[in-house]
Amino acid sequence: MKWQGRERSSNVEDRRGARRGGLGGGLGGLGGLGRGGGIRLPTGGGGGRGGISSIIGIVIVLGIIWFATGTNPIDVLTGGSSSSAPTSSNASSRQLPAQGEDELADFVGVVVKETEDLWSEQFAASGQDYPEPRVVLFTDAVNTGCGAADSSTGPFYCPEDQQVYIDLSFYDQLHQQFGAPGDFAQAYVLAHEVGHHVQNLTGVLPEFNQARQSMSQEEANAYSVRVELQADCYAGVWANYAGQQNLLDNGDIEEALNAANQIGDDTLQERMQGYAVPKTFNHGTSAQRKSWFERGYQSGDPGDCDTFSGNV
Ligand SMILES: [Zn+2]
Repeated sequence: MKWQGRERSSNVEDRRGARRGGLGGGLGGLGGLGRGGGIRLPTGGGGGRGGISSIIGIVIVLGIIWFATGTNPIDVLTGGSSSSAPTSSNASSRQLPAQGEDELADFVGVVVKETEDLWSEQFAASGQDYPEPRVVLFTDAVNTGCGAADSSTGPFYCPEDQQVYIDLSFYDQLHQQFGAPGDFAQAYVLAHEVGHHVQNLTGVLPEFNQARQSMSQEEANAYSVRVELQADCYAGVWANYAGQQNLLDNGDIEEALNAANQIGDDTLQERMQGYAVPKTFNHGTSAQRKSWFERGYQSGDPGDCDTFSGNV
């Protein structure tokens, strides 16, 4: 990806080597982009010390089976009611190192900025503002609006504080453990998480959070798959946008598709336990994830990311 030297987002907060509570952002609504569900589980509680139980509670929401059998690399954390957007208290956020001093932080900053540009345009086309999410870099553990979490969670989006959290060591894991190298694989992960933020704004996540409360685990898993595939499709839409900005190198799309393949539920389960259990899938198979990323990439239109009608 040709990202060097481009402008970084001002919404990336550097909490590496520290721990702190979450910040907030505004809420917005958007009609045209999508619809669907959310992700709901036991409210994570207040975080703080003894975070283990809240972490576990939250993580289970994401994909219960996952944590028993392996790691689900990119996910959504759920907290309490999504109607209560926290007030922003952006008091002591920490800036990134100066541009040029930290390549990975620069990379994240640029990718996030490009997602802001894309989604601002898309929301503006519907006559709406796009409240940008914050992206928090952390090491090891972090307190969030969805409770405490640690690096084993993988990158995630917390709808309660509207922030994406990522321990950058995940990128090594993505390469080494999941067999998905390349900067565009890394960009895909960020774009997917930002996709969850978009879903939070469009009502998809709140609706899912609500609906899953009266669902069986199996039904909720199937619903979750649709939510996750839409986030993959949105990541593809972003890849299309990146192409329009002339940011793509040869092989970038293949890197993203490979990542989508490597973190498909069937592929992950087969790697972890030697067999796959389809009713436990909550992110989609490798084929589905690739297919929806590809669809978003080919179309460039989030309106083509309706994963809630018909078969996926
Ligand atoms: Zn996800």
